[in-house]
Amino acid sequence: MTDAERLAALEAIATEVRACTRCRLHGSRTNAVPGEGSPGTEVVFVGEGPGLNEDQQGRPFVGAAGSLLNELLALVGWRREEVFIANIVKCRPPGNRDPEADEVAACEPFLRRQLETIDPAVVVTLGRHSLGSFQPGARISAAHGTARPADPASGARNAVVYAMYHPAAAFRQAALRETLFAEMANLPQVLIDARAARDARPGDARPEPAPAVSSGDAAANDTSEIADAAMESATIEGASSDVDVADADQMTLF
Ligand code: URA
Repeated sequence: MTDAERLAALEAIATEVRACTRCRLHGSRTNAVPGEGSPGTEVVFVGEGPGLNEDQQGRPFVGAAGSLLNELLALVGWRREEVFIANIVKCRPPGNRDPEADEVAACEPFLRRQLETIDPAVVVTLGRHSLGSFQPGARISAAHGTARPADPASGARNAVVYAMYHPAAAFRQAALRETLFAEMANLPQVLIDARAARDARPGDARPEPAPAVSSGDAAANDTSEIADAAMESATIEGASSDVDVADADQMTLF
C-alpha cells in the first residue's frame, strides 16, 4: 500500500468515526476524535479516550496529557506529526469516566482498521485501558516498559506492543514522570528491535526501512544520552525530520 492509499483509507475511517452512532458516547460528544498523524509511520500511540479538550477540538492528546506526550516525543527527537496518535474509544466518556466494555467493543473495529492500514512496527499503549485491549489481563504495574508481540487480531499484524503508563498518571503520581521519560528513552531501541523482528518474519509487511543502527545502552539511566543516540539512529520511516513543523504536508490530520 502506498502512503497515499493509507492516507485515503485513514480518511475514510475518520469520516465513519465522525458519523458513528454505535454506542451511547455519540450522544454526549461535541466532536469524535478519530486520531491523527503520519499514514506512513512505524509507531502508533494508543490512549484511552478523548478528554474535554480533545472533545472540543476533535484531536487526540491536545490537553495537559498531550503536552506531556509532546515532551516525551521530543526526548527521542520525534514529533507528533511523525507518529500516529489514536485512542481505544473515539468519543469522550462523560465526566472523563472510564470507557465501558460495550463502548470499547463498539469502537474496536475503528482502531483495528487503522492499525491494519498503517501496519506499524510498534504499538505504544498508554495506560491500563489501552494495555488491556492489546494484552487482556496484563497489569500496567508489571507490564510498563516491556514489549510483547502484538496479537495480529488487533490489526497490527506484525508489530510489538510496548506498554507505557498514561501521561496523565504522572499528574496523580509524580514519580511516574521519571518512569515515563526513562521508558520513552527506550522506545527507539524497541523500534529497532521490532524492525529486526519484521525482517525475520516479514509476513506481508511493507518494505523495510534503512538498516538500523544501535541506539546505545538502553539500560542506562541517562535518558538524554540515549535520546541523543536515538535521534541519530531511529528516524521513523515515513517521516521527514528536516521539514518545518508548520509545513502543511507534515500536519496530516484525520
Ligand atoms: N487521554 C487519552 O487517553 N486520550 C486523549 O486523546 C487525551 C487524553
